[in-house]
Amino acid sequence: MARGTGTSKAKTNTKGFWGKSEVFAFRVPRPYKNMEIISDIKAMQNRCLAARDSGQKISFVPTMGFLHEGHLSLLREGRKRGDLLILSIFVNPTQFGQGEDLDCYPRDFERDEAMARECGVDLLFYPEAEAIYPPGYATYVSVDGPLTTTLEGACRPTHFRGVTTVVTKLFNIVMPHVALFGRKDFQQLAVISRMTSDLNLPIDIVGMPIIREEDGLAMSSRNVYLCNSERKQALALNDTLRQTAEMAQNGESNAEKILTMAQGRLHAEADLEIDYVKICNAQSLEEVNTIDHESVILLAVSVGKTRLIDNGNLIS
Ligand code: AMP
Repeated sequence: MARGTGTSKAKTNTKGFWGKSEVFAFRVPRPYKNMEIISDIKAMQNRCLAARDSGQKISFVPTMGFLHEGHLSLLREGRKRGDLLILSIFVNPTQFGQGEDLDCYPRDFERDEAMARECGVDLLFYPEAEAIYPPGYATYVSVDGPLTTTLEGACRPTHFRGVTTVVTKLFNIVMPHVALFGRKDFQQLAVISRMTSDLNLPIDIVGMPIIREEDGLAMSSRNVYLCNSERKQALALNDTLRQTAEMAQNGESNAEKILTMAQGRLHAEADLEIDYVKICNAQSLEEVNTIDHESVILLAVSVGKTRLIDNGNLIS
């Protein structure tokens, strides 16, 4: 799509189509062919305000694009939860640290557009980085404390500030009633839930299950970086999660013992470079010594140049 036009008029639904009497029919799943693409922030805001004014419930799925089944699962749930389903695609520069993969992050707008259409997206927001962060931009939103300083926050100190800033901006532009996020990014979901609650944002945050490839690897846009041998190595992530859950379910409640097994499996056996493997309370993300129903194991490793994260419950 050539940007700069703000909205793609040819694909715009007529106002009558959105009339209240048609809302029920709109929730019936079918391949939607009409999808608006908007890149201009003001046009997007006006479009969303009009939708809200006409009584439509907006569900929103923010992404960085290069869509896969994980993203689509959020969109399908969003389709059920709202009258107007909005997808944003924006590779957010402020959540990438120096030396990270911002420049080579996978992008394929045409493929994403087709997938979004098939999934029943009504409105695709596709802004330019220069519009989201114009010259002189100086305002950031950050969540303080252990939620953002442990795990990913310890490895990527500016990451969550970038995430919470862009999500707040997207919320202000899209004005959704409900926003859906994957538990694949467990800490991100916790941080966004905290921010939404702390700032009294009138938005329901919905966490969605991790979608995996058939062999267990959690879907991620970054999986495309993996060569065949790295792809095989990466299977150790889900294997490790499965083994740790087995240990916990067989009665092992000592976090240290479970972590020792996990580290051995990831590093010694699969030759992965570990950033962290931790067992934490699912709410506070503080580390725990003794496993209970609220415990979650989170891990981040590097496979060659690719960094992968995954997580799982220990006792279901
Ligand atoms: P991203 O494009 O990587 O920023 O992801 C956009 C949204 O999709 C986030 O809420 C992610 O947590 C979610 N997501 C990414 N991968 C998966 C997956 N494998 N399963 C479920 N949700 C996912």
